[in-house]
Amino acid sequence: MIIILEPDLPDQNVTVDAVRAVAARYPGVTVKPYEFRGTTHRFAEVHLLGSTAAVPTAAFESLPGVRQVVRVSAKYRLVGRHDPAHETVGFEHNGVHIDESTVHIFAGLCAVDTPAHVDAMMAALARESIVTTRMGAYKPRSSPYDFQGLGKECLPWVFETAGKHGIRLIAMEATDASHLDEIAEALERAGHPTAVIIQVGTRNAQNYELLKHVGRQQAFPVLFKRGMGITLEESLNACEYIASEGNPRIIFCLRGVKTLLGEPHRNLVDFAHVPVVRRQTRLPVCIDPSHSVGISLRAPDGLPDIFHAVGQGIIAGASAVLVDFHPHPERALCDGGQALTLDMLVPLVEHVRRVRAAYEESVAAFAGRAPAKTGSAQ
Ligand code: PEP
Ligand code: MN
Repeated sequence: MIIILEPDLPDQNVTVDAVRAVAARYPGVTVKPYEFRGTTHRFAEVHLLGSTAAVPTAAFESLPGVRQVVRVSAKYRLVGRHDPAHETVGFEHNGVHIDESTVHIFAGLCAVDTPAHVDAMMAALARESIVTTRMGAYKPRSSPYDFQGLGKECLPWVFETAGKHGIRLIAMEATDASHLDEIAEALERAGHPTAVIIQVGTRNAQNYELLKHVGRQQAFPVLFKRGMGITLEESLNACEYIASEGNPRIIFCLRGVKTLLGEPHRNLVDFAHVPVVRRQTRLPVCIDPSHSVGISLRAPDGLPDIFHAVGQGIIAGASAVLVDFHPHPERALCDGGQALTLDMLVPLVEHVRRVRAAYEESVAAFAGRAPAKTGSAQ
């Protein structure tokens, strides 16, 4: 059972204590309070765990400061969307508000290689007033002989260059818990010119120790990549692991699923799941067209397949795009074959803007209609 408090309660603890007092009347029930900071509001929930079947909701509904009491059968207690009309989706980090009201483009290098490439990438973003990027320093590679990323050595100049170009948030994968310390230390030494959102890669989607580690810290929000060969439910449970350790600031990223049926694309694009994730959770949804499609070929209409995949994700309601670029893809040390060149940045930004406008128009056209009947699938 989840007791949702009114947002921004000045005397939140009084309500939490009142909930505790009522809950204490029922044996076998434990109380776990949570606080979330959305982009505009702070809100709190009290979760009752254990034998709650016999606990009446009315006992809590009448308490001052309680907005709603929800019995959850849903597995996703923390990341689940229990109150679609009111729930705050998203969070703010280093001045970047990630929620459902806008689309952020995390365009950047799959793998950091040279200072000149990082500078060229970030300068191109700055020209478009984009403050979000992706920069891989720790690369999980299929072969031990492939480039493994520059690791912590590159962090000082990556962060300094980000500061120079006004980049506020960098998506950077951590493949080991120690990488979070290295990133935190480098940010500290550099004087926090920018900030990082920790990417949990598809290969680590079920690395429960890493999930728990990123969940236990508050310094970094998390960009979680859907597991490539597991069910959506398993991936959502992985996010629940992160949240249940104390960090609910998670973006859920779809990046295609592994099956030969996706060929000639690298993976099978799964962006039809954007509305599913939004319905089932309160996590902002990101799409990664680069690792889904994996090639930079163009369709007969002139648009790269990657643009078409971006369109599919945005028209479905995604609020972030993680996309590989490289000033010289032929020189990239990782995934050059799927990197867009810098001259494609403005066309991509315009494409996203146009498709997002179409999405918003469509949503507005549906506003006021009775909610569609949902089928048995969630
Ligand atoms: C990446 O984004 O660089 C990456 C390795 O992605 P994924 O974990 O989705 O394969
Ligand atoms: Mn890659």
